Amino acid sequence: MCKVRVFYRALKIDYMIIVKEAKTLDRYILQEKAKGSVIGFVPTMGALHRGHLALIERSRQHAGFTVCSIFVNPTQFNNAGDFRRYPNVIEKDIALLAEAGTDMLYLPSVEEIYPGGTDGLEQYELGYLETVLEGQYRPGHFQGVCLVMQRLLSMVRPHRLLMGLKDYQQCMVVKRLLQLMRSDIEFIACPTIREPDGLAMSSRNMRLSPEDRKKAPAIYRALDYIKKELRAGELTGLKAKAGQQLTEAGFKVDYTEIAHAETLQIMDSWNGKDPLVALVAAFLNEVRLIDNMVIA
Ligand code: AMP
Repeated sequence: MCKVRVFYRALKIDYMIIVKEAKTLDRYILQEKAKGSVIGFVPTMGALHRGHLALIERSRQHAGFTVCSIFVNPTQFNNAGDFRRYPNVIEKDIALLAEAGTDMLYLPSVEEIYPGGTDGLEQYELGYLETVLEGQYRPGHFQGVCLVMQRLLSMVRPHRLLMGLKDYQQCMVVKRLLQLMRSDIEFIACPTIREPDGLAMSSRNMRLSPEDRKKAPAIYRALDYIKKELRAGELTGLKAKAGQQLTEAGFKVDYTEIAHAETLQIMDSWNGKDPLVALVAAFLNEVRLIDNMVIA
């Protein structure tokens, strides 16, 4: 049985403190910093799976005090239906995080993050990164990611920030945000955790029908195909073939692309040297899945 102790506006389950207000969060963070703890931070939108828990585990290796946040951020959804349907399984999430050894869970409300509402907020200078791939297909998405990240980071004030390479472009955007903020927070990118059949773990997977769940690993196979067939020279034919495989598997494809792994410049030919990443975004019915693989 886990030990439950109730504090003023904070609930302590076993060794995990649950906080809903920035004021309370601040008190705990100050206390931990005074003790000399290194703070690791794992921001999430909940509906947690092993991919998220791997970030917690990694944080525990790199930091003495791990804070996780769960906040379904309205400003990063360019599709209202997707926001409404985002899974909410908070009790299960709390149990998973406590079991994984998380020290603190921050569960802010929308008002806490956006006290003045969500209109007319700051714009970030993301340049090229915002114009391609997810930036192109989800207008405004990365502005929303930056808004919530800046707020969360200013509240948690971590030494280390841990995020997943499953969201490759998001990692690049958040690194850019840290530069814009002139922040010295250390960014730690963690590898993608997959199901045994190759499907990247994602909170959205639980919205797939049983038939679509069977089709979903085709994304991994398409990425793997690109990696195996990659040769110096033209890349357009390879991208098209991988896209065709996904269409034949029943997907509606947004993009099947190959990009420079450090700049995300779209590559139509390869000199045999540049580091490359293949990236896919595709729908199975109304569920949009993304994945990527570093291929060179
Ligand atoms: P989300 O809850 O989807 O916003 O994700 C929260 C964090 O978990 C982000 O840094 C994601 O990149 C990361 N993440 C999501 N899925 C995976 C996965 N399969 N493997 C590793 N990290 C992941």
